[in-house]
This record gives sequence, structure tokens and C-alpha cells, in this order.
Amino acid sequence: MREKKYDYLIVGAGLFGATFAHLATKRGKRCLVIDKRSHVGGNVYCEEIEGINVHKYGAHIFHTSDRRIWDFVNSIVPFNRYTNSPLAKAPDGKLYNLPFNMNTFYQMWGVKTPAEAQAKLDEQRREAIKRMEDDGIKEPRNLEEQALTLIGRDVYEQLIKGYTEKQWGRPCSELPAFIIRRLPVRMTFDNNYFNDCYQGVPIGGYNKLAEGLLKGIECKTDTDFFNSEYKEWRKYAKWLVYTGAIDEYFSYKLGRLDWRTVSFQTYIKDIPNYQGNAVVNYTSREEPYTRIIEHKHFEMFGQDIERVPKTVISEEYPVEYKEGLEPYYPVNDLRNENLAEQYRFLAEQEHDVIFGGRLAEYKYYDMAPIIGKALSEVCKSLQ
Ligand code: FAD
Ligand code: UDP
Repeated sequence: MREKKYDYLIVGAGLFGATFAHLATKRGKRCLVIDKRSHVGGNVYCEEIEGINVHKYGAHIFHTSDRRIWDFVNSIVPFNRYTNSPLAKAPDGKLYNLPFNMNTFYQMWGVKTPAEAQAKLDEQRREAIKRMEDDGIKEPRNLEEQALTLIGRDVYEQLIKGYTEKQWGRPCSELPAFIIRRLPVRMTFDNNYFNDCYQGVPIGGYNKLAEGLLKGIECKTDTDFFNSEYKEWRKYAKWLVYTGAIDEYFSYKLGRLDWRTVSFQTYIKDIPNYQGNAVVNYTSREEPYTRIIEHKHFEMFGQDIERVPKTVISEEYPVEYKEGLEPYYPVNDLRNENLAEQYRFLAEQEHDVIFGGRLAEYKYYDMAPIIGKALSEVCKSLQ
């Protein structure tokens, strides 16, 4: 057989594809990376506006407790000290710290010690549990009941109800309870959203990470794998690494998978500092968006903020997914889980294809686990 020009054709220049390409190239393999977008980086790509890196596909904060992954990304580009500590603007007009912690409870009830906060939380929880018992309900049946029994009426009404109903487009009483179990509750004055040991944003932005990973590797953007003109390239590589949507790979023959998506309205403001924080959630039904991201705060701290005279903000709106919109989050329901499982079964039969990343696995992954997965797939493939 004729020698193939490449060892790997990698479809998708997101973090999975770029990390795979980087590691395989380092081990002497020949890689070609293609992406249908006009840029590399996938969803971590940033667009520079007014000297500010704007997270075009949603705010991205890197966090991990895995030292190996942290050292790896920092070997490509050093990361800054950004710590995610979002605020929430509530229906009562006040600002509260997130995640729910002693600062939030102080702002809500004026309580100053963990014991005082605990007493207040217990009082509100007892009320909710009693109401459920009176109605003969044993276990929380939906998100509303779960939230009321976890954290009580005040936090639920000010910080959860409006945000969640905007985000999911349904009343909390019709949403599954598990969604809210993710929210951490802390009895310390700690506004750090994540519990991980390491977090930050690449100095100079995420494009430095993507470009660093792909340095010296042949990349073609504006190149859709399913465009017949390019499909020919598959013949030039021994292996295919596919990070696009799994249902598209199989021409949707079992049906289409659903996604949850969001849209962004981005504005340039003629002031250096709009909201004083990278992330402010809007938990009232009054504003139609769920949060506003002010991008400069991911990379500029202290005096640097004032040095750049303008600022860029993005309002984030939840929208119903339609074909042609960005597929962001897999939908965790039975229909989609079963369908994804059937596609994964088909994928296992494709012996010269590695399916990896959030679209090809139909799984939500943060960035660090995606890098971890790419690392282990390279090792498996090169055994
Ligand atoms: P992607 O980045 O989506 O890359 C896949 C690439 O494949 C894309 O560039 C696409 O154009 C290309 N492609 C698809 N089909 C084809 C085709 N047919 N031909 C050619 N190219 C194709 N993680 C965190 O750790 N912290 C966060 O704060 C965080 N925030 C997030 C916010 C949002 C709104 C979302 C949606 C995700 C967030 N994530 C976050 C998760 C993070 O975005 C993912 O872990 C990461 O981007 C996944 O990388 P990937 O390579 O699997 O996918
Ligand atoms: N949530 C909330 N109020 C907030 C932030 C989050 O009620 O201010 C709830 C909401 O139900 C959301 C869930 O917590 O769906 C998870 O939120 P997070 O922002 O952690 O996850 P993401 O929206 O990024 O999936």
C-alpha cells in the first residue's frame, strides 16, 4: 500500500484536537488539523476588541486540581491569577456574593458567624420541610422543592428562582432536582467559585494556548470535513481523530441529538470599568439575560483596568436550540442519553477513528478534563 502522508487527520482545532496534535507531533507523528471555523481554538477562542480579549463563545476559566495538567498548560503559556468570584444582582436590587457563602448570608440576613447563619438556614429549611410533610411529600420532587429544603426561601427567591427559570425556560417546579445539587454552600467567607487547587486564564489570552499547542503543525481553517472537496484528505492519513458532532459523523441516521445553547450580545462601553467584576449574574426575571461578562477583568487587575479607556461586555441570553446555532451543552434527558449511547456504540465499530471531545462524545467536559482525555488517547493510540 502507498505510504500515507499523515499519521493523523484531526478534525477540529479545539482543545481536544489541538492537544492531541501537539502530543502526537512531539512523539514524531505527522498531523494535519482541519477546522470548519475561520480560527483555531474551538470554543476557547477570543476575539480582540479595543485591546481586550473577548471570550467569543462564552466565559472560560481554567481550573483543575491535577498538577500534571496545570503544569502542561503552563508549559505552553503561563496562566495568571484570575479567581472566579461571581456576583449576583437580585430582585431586591442588592448585589450578593456567590457561591452561597458567609458573605452571601451576611448580605441577606446580617448574620456574622457560621452559627448564626446555620440557625437561619435551619429555620428556613424546617419551614420548607414542614410544608412538604403537610402535603404528604417525602422527597423533593423538583428543583423548587430541592432548593427550598437545601437553602430556604430567601436564597431561593432572591438568587435561584429567576435565574434558573430564565436559563431553562421552565418553572422551577417543573425542573429536575439534580440541577441545583451542583451549587456549593460554604460556611466560610470564601467567594472563590471553584474548589480546585489551580485556576486562571492564560496570560495574553486563550489564543496563545491554542496557537502554542498547534505551533509548527499544519492547520487548515474554513475547512469542513463533510465538504466533499476536503473529504478526500481522509485518504492521506492512517488515523482519523474526530472531534465534531457524533450524530453528524453518522449522517444523523439514528436521529439528531439536541443541545442547549446561549447567545451573546456584545457592546463596547466608553468607560474603563462597567461592573467591577468579570461575571455578574442577573437573578431577577426583569432583565432578560442571565449574566453580563466584562471581559477585561479576566486579564487586567488593579491599575491596569483604568489604563485601557474602554471596556467590552457581553450579555448572555438563554435560547432554544435550533439547527445552525452553536451546540453548547448536551441535554441530559432520556431521549438524548439513549440516542448518544447508540451513536457511541456505532463509533466503537470505527476502528481507525478516535472520537474525542465534547461534540464527539456528547458529554459536557470542562477544559482540564478535555486535556486529560487527549493526553490519555494519545498514549493509547501510540502504544
Ligand atoms: P470545541 O472547543 O467545541 O472544538 C471542536 C472543534 O471542532 C470546533 O472548533 C469546531 O468548529 C470543529 N468542528 C466540528 N465539526 C467539524 C467539521 N465537520 N469539520 C471541521 N471542524 C469541525 N470549561 C472550563 O473548564 N471552564 C469554563 O469556564 C468553561 N466555560 C464554558 C462556557 C460555555 C458557554 C461552554 C459551552 C463551555 C465551557 N467550558 C468551560 C467547556 C469548554 O468549552 C470545553 O471543555 C472545550 O472547549 C472542549 O473542547 P473540544 O475540543 O472538545 O470542543
Ligand atoms: N444558579 C442559580 N443562580 C445563580 C447561578 C446558578 O440559581 O446565580 C443555578 C441554576 O439553576 C444553574 C445551576 O445553578 O442552572 C448551575 O449554574 P452554573 O452557573 O454553575 O452552571 P452553568 O450555567 O455554567 O451550567
